[in-house]
Amino acid sequence: MSEITYAPTNSSYTSILEFSIVNLRYAKPETPKPLVIVTPKQESQIQTVISCCKKHDIQMRIRGAGNDFEGLSFVSQVPFVLLDMLNLRHIEVDPVAATATIQSGATGGEVYYAVAQKSKTLGFLGPSFAPVGVTGFIGHGGYGTLRRKYGLAADNVIDARIMNDNGDILDRESMGEDLFWAIRGGGPSSFGVILSWKIKLVPVPETVTMFKVRTIDQNATEIVHKWQTIAPNLPRDVEMRINAYPSTDSLTDETTVVIEFVGTYLGTIDKLVPMMQERFPELNLGKQDCSEVGYTQSALDFPLDLPNRPLEVLLERSTFKLPKKVKSVHVTRPISKQGLQGMWDFLRKYETGTYIVLTSFGGRMDEISESAIPYPHRPGVLYMIFWRVRTSEDPAAAFSWIRDFYSYMAPYVVSPRTAYAACTDLDLGVNNQNGVTTYAQASKWGKMYFKNNFDRLVHIKTKVDPANFFRHEQSIPPL
Ligand SMILES: Cc1cc2nc3c(=O)[nH]c(=O)nc-3n(C[C@H](O)[C@H](O)[C@H](O)COP(=O)(O)OP(=O)(O)OC[C@H]3O[C@@H](n4cnc5c(N)ncnc54)[C@H](O)[C@@H]3O)c2cc1C
Repeated sequence: MSEITYAPTNSSYTSILEFSIVNLRYAKPETPKPLVIVTPKQESQIQTVISCCKKHDIQMRIRGAGNDFEGLSFVSQVPFVLLDMLNLRHIEVDPVAATATIQSGATGGEVYYAVAQKSKTLGFLGPSFAPVGVTGFIGHGGYGTLRRKYGLAADNVIDARIMNDNGDILDRESMGEDLFWAIRGGGPSSFGVILSWKIKLVPVPETVTMFKVRTIDQNATEIVHKWQTIAPNLPRDVEMRINAYPSTDSLTDETTVVIEFVGTYLGTIDKLVPMMQERFPELNLGKQDCSEVGYTQSALDFPLDLPNRPLEVLLERSTFKLPKKVKSVHVTRPISKQGLQGMWDFLRKYETGTYIVLTSFGGRMDEISESAIPYPHRPGVLYMIFWRVRTSEDPAAAFSWIRDFYSYMAPYVVSPRTAYAACTDLDLGVNNQNGVTTYAQASKWGKMYFKNNFDRLVHIKTKVDPANFFRHEQSIPPL
């Protein structure tokens, strides 16, 4: 154990801690630090950590790739031990059975890469940002570019292995269907330490098309308005997102809002372009806006802006570090043109790393019931909106901007409010740090993330972890 345990006096402590801090808002000198960091290389070493934390009544935080937006995987306000899964990331791909078995510390990029080594026509339902950790991703639901055709990553989990607070290792059969349901979208860190996932791989063509149409807000509101109903109803082989962000012209000093329509099509350019001309002529998609790549190539970050990079880029962990705050909402009725214009006005008002992403749903997402797994944002949801602000320059202004924007969105979004659990937002409510949180208190944030599935999650938690060993500010509490 001594070889994998780092106390603050160890010279590697700081570099190991900082390696996987992605939200730099939690990388400040005043951010609470772990008493020790343990980086297990074998599963039995996790048993030792759990037993030690229990014996000394110390909280344990579990970190995958460290992308949690509120740093819940590596920050706690009470003394804690950091269990960093960094070294447990072996991936076994079976191209004949079309499955992959993935140790929980792997990133999405590492899985994309491992699958590509074995097959060009099998795909991993991974994140659109590859360095995201598989366990945080699958454990919250996990949507990627194939969501409209195959649903979420969590919909395609066949088996999982988890360690409970007694150090027992359970698979799907021994954990039972309740716990297996809970860990596929109910947040991975409330129920145990996830050790590995076995997932289905899906068929993909050798060539897929990526496209991007870039415009500015004056021209785009009309098109975005149409996109809201067209994108969720396109054939399932197409997914389309909108990225919106402010940009200031250095000559005129005028701020405009750039609107990008970005998407992936499971097929070739010659099929996509006529289909989009027919279904969405306002977008005016042409061949010049498209690029044909392999499926795994499409998982690289910014593949259209930075083409021809090797697949090895997918193996880079812990990139895109930024101090930030995010929020998410879901939309079931198209937002009026005036409402959209107001959103662009918000982007013009505060330009410091502000960014909005609209991700269309529909297709397979519409067919899976709200209670199939804990992730509930399904039938009828046209799209999700995620927005982000950089908090380094003026934190007070950044927080006020993101909260004001959240209030502005009230008339346009699902009510009562909903949010995607992977977009962790402590503004929605927090548990008590002494480990005792009432159902009513946790319902505030829990119902937004999980709707009525929150009740079942609380019952399962009560059964499998009644002493609430696995806890943090937004973990599922026992009754
Ligand atoms: C730039 C960016 C892009 C993103 N894009 C997408 C996207 O396309 N689609 C999408 O669905 N989400 C996306 N996300 C959200 C992402 O899925 C979540 O932030 C996810 O929780 C990150 O997982 P992680 O392992 O990297 O983070 P971590 O901070 O390490 O972990 C996240 C949570 O999982 C828990 N956890 C990690 N490993 C284990 C384990 N072995 N056992 C138990 N609990 C564990 C942690 O305790 C924590 O609560 C994105 C996030 C970022 C920052």
